[in-house]
Formats: sequence, structure tokens, C-alpha cells
Amino acid sequence: KKEQLELLATVDAVTKDGVNLRLAGNISSVKELNLALKYGAEGVGLFRTEFLYMDRSSFPTEDEQFEVYKQVVEKVGSNMVVIRSLDIGGDKHLDYFQLPEEQNPFLGYRAIRISLNRQDMFKTQLTAILRASAYGNVKLMFPMISSVEEVQAAKALLEEVKAELELRGIPFNRNIPVGIMIEVPAAVMIADLLAEEVDFFSIGTNDLVQYVLAVDRMNEQIAHMYHPYHPAVLRMIRMTVEAARNAKIDISVCGEMAADERSLPLWLELGISDLSMSPQALLKVKHRTLNTLAIDATRVAKACFHHRTSSETEEILSAYAQKSG
Ligand code: PEP
Ligand code: MG
Repeated sequence: KKEQLELLATVDAVTKDGVNLRLAGNISSVKELNLALKYGAEGVGLFRTEFLYMDRSSFPTEDEQFEVYKQVVEKVGSNMVVIRSLDIGGDKHLDYFQLPEEQNPFLGYRAIRISLNRQDMFKTQLTAILRASAYGNVKLMFPMISSVEEVQAAKALLEEVKAELELRGIPFNRNIPVGIMIEVPAAVMIADLLAEEVDFFSIGTNDLVQYVLAVDRMNEQIAHMYHPYHPAVLRMIRMTVEAARNAKIDISVCGEMAADERSLPLWLELGISDLSMSPQALLKVKHRTLNTLAIDATRVAKACFHHRTSSETEEILSAYAQKSG
């Protein structure tokens, strides 16, 4: 079965009736990139950079980061690489960077909130990412955005860094696309306003589910309440897609929901063609895509947006995935 799946690596992800998807990889290292490429990833939809900062004794320098980003970008070739700025805090910590003890770390000092507070560290990372943009198709993404002000502040720093690189005479892509993760309910509710500020959205369902349902994604005790198919989550996803469509900006999904092949009808119904997932999930999602008739799947998904319970949607999507091979 595994060998059979691996034959699909070089096949396009297209439904039986011709709807094309782009399946990209979520990676946090060059090693994971190699796996993603082996499994046919069309680019990197989420490069989690925090792992460059972990298992060491000080922040990585501009050159150290640049070398890694450049290596990833060059390996990927002409496909896109979405590099996400540092997303520490919450469950991820650095030995050399003391974070305050917090009652609610997931509601606390994390991700873009740290970057905007530690501008030295943030600008170093932005510089390294911009430098790598001279070597391929790089996009920049900010995590945990919950307000327009945060996006504007991050973009202002990006402009400062661009000016500095110009002074240094170092090449980079002046028009690097800038996007944000949609993973906080506030961002969904103001998605129309945020869309005016950026080139793309990527829905981070791992955090979005946690924050919409107020269910800690790490807490075993309430794991049974963590429902990606909860009607509140589906509505949030749909709102985000509608805002992106109205503003004519790109939209993708990079949370674990994209790696669950049962979700495919939802993406087809919403018109999302860009999915990014852990390398291990790529071939099974492609296999499901190849065996799906989009016209059928969208009919199934339409009903899901009217269900009153998570279990109803989960049962129907599970049954549909089984039935269609
Ligand atoms: C997410 O929250 O869905 C996501 C993709 O980011 P992370 O899992 O790194 O928080
Ligand atoms: Mg997240």
C-alpha cells in the first residue's frame, strides 16, 4: 500500500472531474523538506521557523538563518515557499529566552506579539527572509494576528528592513507577498479589514479550533471536545474564505484539517485549491483527490454547512471518504 501510494508522488492532484489542487508541505527543517519533496509536495505552504531557534544557546544570526532559508528556497525551485515568522510562546520555548510564567500561555505572550516587542530579533529574521527572497518564490507570513494594527506594525518593520538592505546593496524581492495566518477568532471577524492589508490568508485550523471552541489543543482531558467539524469552526472558515474572495487575495489552509482527507469535500465546496500539510499526509490526500468527483463532493459538503452538530458532519464526511474508494 505504501509503495503504491509513493507512485503518486509525481502525479498531479486533480479530481476525477478535473478540479486541480495544489498540495504543499508543512516543514520545520531541511530534513522535512526532503520528505515533502519525496512525496511530491508542490512547494512549502508553511515553513515553521521556530525550530531554527530551538536546541541552541542563543538566537540564530542573520547569516545562519539566511543560509537555511536559501537552502530551502533553492531546493524547492520555482514553487513557492511560505516562510512564517517566529511562533514561540504557547507550548514552544527557547532555553536562552526567558518567557514570563503565564496563567494562560496560549492566550499570552506568543508569536507576533513577541516579534513586535523584540524588534531587534524580529528585524534580524525579516532581513534573512528578504535576502532568501532573491533566490526563489518566497512569501512571508505572520502568525497569531488578531488586529489590523499588528499587521501594520509588522509591515512597517518590513519596510525598514527593506530600506536597510537597499543601503547595504543586497538583492531581495521588493514585492515579496505578505500574508497572515488566520487562527484567532478576532481575525476571522475582521477578515475583510485584514484582507485590505495583505496578499494572502492561510487558515491555521490547529489554533483556530482551539480558540473558537475554547478547547486547549494540548489538554488530553478535553481532547474529545476538540472538534474541527464543529459548526462554529466551519462557519469561521467560510467567513474567512468569503472575505478573501471579496478582496481577491489568495487563501490556503495549513492546519491539520488539511491533512485529514475526509475534509476534502469542504475545500472543494469552498473553492480552496491550496492545501499545505505534514509531508506524511500528502499522498493520502492526493489519493483521495484522485478518487473524488468534485461535483458529488460539493453536494455532500453543502449539507455539512447546515449540520447542527460536529458528529453529524464527521459521520457524513467519514462515510463519504470510505465510499468514494
Ligand atoms: C495552526 O495553528 O493551524 C498552524 C498551522 O500552526 P501551528 O500548528 O504551528 O500553531
Ligand atoms: Mg498556529
